[in-house]
Amino acid sequence: MGVRGSSQQEGARVVQTFTDHQARSSATWPVLTREQLARVRAAVQETLEDHRRHLQENEELFRVLVSDPSVDAGERQAARVAAAKAAEICQEAEGALAAMDDGTYGRCAGCEQDIPFERLEALPLTQTCVACPQP
Ligand SMILES: [Zn+2]
Repeated sequence: MGVRGSSQQEGARVVQTFTDHQARSSATWPVLTREQLARVRAAVQETLEDHRRHLQENEELFRVLVSDPSVDAGERQAARVAAAKAAEICQEAEGALAAMDDGTYGRCAGCEQDIPFERLEALPLTQTCVACPQP
């Protein structure tokens, strides 16, 4: 997980862009600056690639386990659950990228308020603000 670890400089930039975001909080939709959107998009793309890989690995593992009668059902089930979870995250990531393209990314699916950049950066796939339940 390379990108995430890249240090204090990164943190300093987050503070800067967050302040920038605050300053223009009265602006019309979309609320993210181009730089913020680029950062979140990169994180989502990374997540998508990671989970596409997990999906493939777990599907392969599942196929291998299915063809081996000595493997117990629990292990097969675990691989299948992991593959399903990875598929779900891929779908969410694809949805987030599509929302970025059509300009709806970052709007809460519950109350339709803007989700703060801070939250989007921590949870790029979230569709809701802190106050609203996940759909
Ligand atoms: Zn909300």
